Amino acid sequence: MIKSNRLIESEYAANFADIHPPFATHDAAIVEANRCLFCYDAPCMKSCPTSIDVPMFIRQITTNNLKGSAKTIFDSNILGAGCSRVCPVEKLCEGACVYNLMDEKPIEIARLQRYSTEKAITEQWQLFERTPSVSKRVAIVGAGPAGLSCAHVLARQGVEVVIYEKEEKGGGLMTYGVAGYKVTPEFCEDEVNFITSVGGITIEYGQELGRDVFLNELQHNFDAVFLGIGVGLARPLSIEGENLEGVENALEFIYNIRTRPLSSIAVGDKVAVIGLGMTAIDAATQAKRLGASEVTIVYRRTEAEKPCTDVEMQVARLDGVQFVFLAAPKEIKGAQGKVEKLICERMTLGEPDASGRRAPVSTGETFSLDVDMVIKAAGQMPFEKLVSDAHLAHKYGKLLVDTEGATNMTGVFAGGDAVNGGREVVDAVQAGKVGAQGILSYLNNIQGVI
Ligand code: SF4
Repeated sequence: MIKSNRLIESEYAANFADIHPPFATHDAAIVEANRCLFCYDAPCMKSCPTSIDVPMFIRQITTNNLKGSAKTIFDSNILGAGCSRVCPVEKLCEGACVYNLMDEKPIEIARLQRYSTEKAITEQWQLFERTPSVSKRVAIVGAGPAGLSCAHVLARQGVEVVIYEKEEKGGGLMTYGVAGYKVTPEFCEDEVNFITSVGGITIEYGQELGRDVFLNELQHNFDAVFLGIGVGLARPLSIEGENLEGVENALEFIYNIRTRPLSSIAVGDKVAVIGLGMTAIDAATQAKRLGASEVTIVYRRTEAEKPCTDVEMQVARLDGVQFVFLAAPKEIKGAQGKVEKLICERMTLGEPDASGRRAPVSTGETFSLDVDMVIKAAGQMPFEKLVSDAHLAHKYGKLLVDTEGATNMTGVFAGGDAVNGGREVVDAVQAGKVGAQGILSYLNNIQGVI
């Protein structure tokens, strides 16, 4: 039965505590940093989408140069603190560490990165200087990782930046869309404040594109525009029973967890989660941590094709989440308007589809799960109507940009999930940097001011 307040406060606190605690002491960080081999042509650096100089920042930790270490990280990734908590490092830097080749534990790059960057944020070190104003103004839509990263590069170059953000806080999915045990909303707020403290960046909250702000007005009022609007629409299952009470989309479920007291979040006793991406895992593990007695992830392919990482699967398994593979939702049945059963079709794998993975094909056989809550995490849909109405070139709603992040509209750039359809935070940070460089070139080439 869906209800809130299943646990006592200390249980909520324990269940949502930091999953990867920081180093307890300075010495512990130094010991780990000293394991690094400071590889030439370091593979860890190459596997970071923002190309953080990992051996350099680790070496700076070993010499107690924490300011230098934080600066090395922020030079490449101004959201380096948040990324140290949410990046799937097992498939990025730590997955590439040479220690893996020796069957030894890779260097704890993320934890070391967290060590330096959190110190910088806590101590409010101002590591960047703004160049004098160039009397140019850029509008950014979206204060998520792409928008913030773009804003910081531009602001450092003397550009005045105004960010229009539809929510009440910045950070995008970092603030509203990831599990509470990875990063807290309070931390995200500190990170946004740290980024804007460079100066020249104003954030206007409660401003949504197409509702409160309009692209043609931004083009008219600013010298350039960057769109970091993300992909925010949950993909419907398009099956019968989807509107019953107890059916919720994962992003909304996580958003509520991020914005309300944990004891007020209603969760079922027997919960099915549809999908196996990172959002599905975050929804399933948090449903369990909120007190659901059974949580089952239903996925239409096999474990081998899963979009989430092995580490995320492991977290879910340790939380007691069950998995049903090769199963797709067919219908949700209810009584008195409330969810009671999820009917699934058994699938088999056919030929590869556009994603390169073998496509699930129905066997015609069905089975049912007794559930009182269904969480939909079958992916997100780009803002197709919004971008069509704004005459922006796109493919199925994903904005089309050139190598500098420029869209088909003069002076309008874009990056992050709105372009790539939804990847990691670190990819959005890099897209924001690329867009900022594109904007600086545009202002320089067209207007000759920078
Ligand atoms: Fe250090 Fe591993 Fe990177 Fe080599 S690959 S520089 S050992 S973190």
